[in-house]
Amino acid sequence: MSWFNLLKVNIDFAKLPKGTEGAYYNQNKGIEIDEKNIYEYLKSKNQTTDEEIIDYLVRVINHEAAHAAHDKTDDEFGRRFKSQKEYIAYALENIADPIHLRLVNFVNHPDVYNTARGKKIKQILQEAADQNIVPPEEYVKFHMRIKGLSKVK
Ligand SMILES: [Zn+2]
Repeated sequence: MSWFNLLKVNIDFAKLPKGTEGAYYNQNKGIEIDEKNIYEYLKSKNQTTDEEIIDYLVRVINHEAAHAAHDKTDDEFGRRFKSQKEYIAYALENIADPIHLRLVNFVNHPDVYNTARGKKIKQILQEAADQNIVPPEEYVKFHMRIKGLSKVK
């Protein structure tokens, strides 16, 4: 079975801009993965065992495949905000992650934290991840309500 049969998009290794690990192009319907940028990122985190490399490579492919799947299932894909596209991709890239960690990854994307609302949410999620007093989900719910970012009780 080829990648195309599984993902329904072409996928290949390619040289991407520094810091970019993967990309999905909705014009030519392809995914590109930069294995050297991935390795540089993992080296900076001191996570370079074979298992860590494979896990992270799968995560990056899952992320870009989520963008491709979103494109194929949403007629409005081209008009969605970048942050909406990233929310879906981060939610699906590794469903084994607790949701607050997926949200931290989401708000660390430049298309998200470079907005006023994104900056506030990023701060709250980071505080939730750094504290050990209440479950992170409770911390986030409480502080989002205080700052008027959510009406969820
Ligand atoms: Zn993305």
